[in-house]
Amino acid sequence: MAKGSITCKCAKCGKSITKEKTCGNRADADNWESWAARQNWTCTECWQAEKIKEREEHDAQVAPVRDAVSADLPALAGSEKQIAWANKIRADVFIALDKIGETFKDEHKQAYRDFRAQLANNHTKASDWIDNRFSFDHISPVFLESGNNSFVSKEYVAFFKAYAATIGDKK
Ligand SMILES: [Zn+2]
Repeated sequence: MAKGSITCKCAKCGKSITKEKTCGNRADADNWESWAARQNWTCTECWQAEKIKEREEHDAQVAPVRDAVSADLPALAGSEKQIAWANKIRADVFIALDKIGETFKDEHKQAYRDFRAQLANNHTKASDWIDNRFSFDHISPVFLESGNNSFVSKEYVAFFKAYAATIGDKK
């Protein structure tokens, strides 16, 4: 084992930073150091600031879509901060669910709309959405049926089974 270590300047603010990596042997560590010396590194503070900026830009970009989806959903209950956060989470969930809903045949779209309304009306506590936020990533039919533990998943799977039973097949 050998440690590669370089000292360089943050590409954004110029602060001196140290980058280290544990390598298998000295030759690997030397290789890593010469590679690392050619990279543009940023300090933790600048990296975090960049992430926050990206998040804000993303939020601004998707805000109109989120607002459009949220306009038809019931008001959430909770503190002002919780509501603002939960509205974003819930909007993203419904945007993802609606993509799945679009794959339903026309004659089955009403069933999807009923499910959607039920889901919205049953969960008007902001904390429901916040507490489950990590379970809502990558919502897809496969993910929803794969034992993911969120209430959206449970209700979707229950709906889908009932719905599949009425039409005899899944699509
Ligand atoms: Zn910096």
